[in-house]
Amino acid sequence: VENYDFELGRVKREIIRRKAKRVLVQLPNGFKKFSKWIIEELEGVAEMFISASHTWGPCDVDFKGAKTIGADLILHFGHHPRTGYGKKYGVDVIFIPVFYLGKVYRGVKEVIELLEGYQRVGLVASVQHVKALDELKNSLEEAGIEAQIGIPREPTMFKGQVLGCDYSAALSLADKVSAYVCVAGGLFHSLGLALTVNKKVIALDPYRDRAKDITIEREKFIRKRMYKLMEAMEARYFAIVVSTKVGQYDLYSALRIRSALKEKGLRSEIILTDEVDAEKLMDLMWPDAIIITACPRISIDHMDNYPIPLINKGEVKYLLKGDLSSYDPVDALK
Ligand code: SF4
Repeated sequence: VENYDFELGRVKREIIRRKAKRVLVQLPNGFKKFSKWIIEELEGVAEMFISASHTWGPCDVDFKGAKTIGADLILHFGHHPRTGYGKKYGVDVIFIPVFYLGKVYRGVKEVIELLEGYQRVGLVASVQHVKALDELKNSLEEAGIEAQIGIPREPTMFKGQVLGCDYSAALSLADKVSAYVCVAGGLFHSLGLALTVNKKVIALDPYRDRAKDITIEREKFIRKRMYKLMEAMEARYFAIVVSTKVGQYDLYSALRIRSALKEKGLRSEIILTDEVDAEKLMDLMWPDAIIITACPRISIDHMDNYPIPLINKGEVKYLLKGDLSSYDPVDALK
């Protein structure tokens, strides 16, 4: 707990200011272990409940659970959205980013070594680590590397913040830098960045205090993706998956894709689900390939869990053309 800022002072004040009586606490899987401590810290402020549902991102708020128990506020820890939800879905929600407070030493040295020959770099981070970017910028500049922090398209996001499906902060520097450093746990955000910018990307993982050039991971991904798309071009019957999660729901795209496939003489059915889960979808038995209109990272990060190709709505145009010669991996993130 001491390495993270759960902002419970602010949270407590907000619960009281909003006069919330019944509160649902929602945390990503890695933070669920802190739920008991949070509830204890907020004891007596309101009636507290814990949601055990998955929460993959700020697009995945448990409004359904909150409404079912009559909660008037959701505390959503660990994510920060592109745009606030307000009370649009009937329940108020507060996002608490949970900034990481730990220090990075060896990883920064490794970043400087890996950036040899690069003079201008862009810096971005997942929300937990945006606070580390100013210090990283100073360290790089002391080493003679000009560093800039990207500005996201949405003003509600933090300076330098990226999401698994939003790298606008990095793109804001596209003409100014020749490499990027992405501060985040694991390679999830760095891989998305590398698919978006096609420049050298260094992943700096503050939890392991290590840095890594992920050019090889990018190339491996593209090769695998092209293979999956080639397989999907042979498919005749498609499942088009629509998620009921509020921030991922996209029936409009699903209907558009269904018409486009029909024009090409290809059959498809639209499948509605909350969680996009391999076991559940493979029970259908009939699809030759699956098109995901929900979170684009499902088919990037989980494609190995499916025996049939899983592709994203942004990649459907290649299926329709039957040609991959102009394939751009950024379409895998759409
Ligand atoms: S990457 Fe997926 S889980 Fe993350 S914010 Fe985007 S849609 Fe949501």
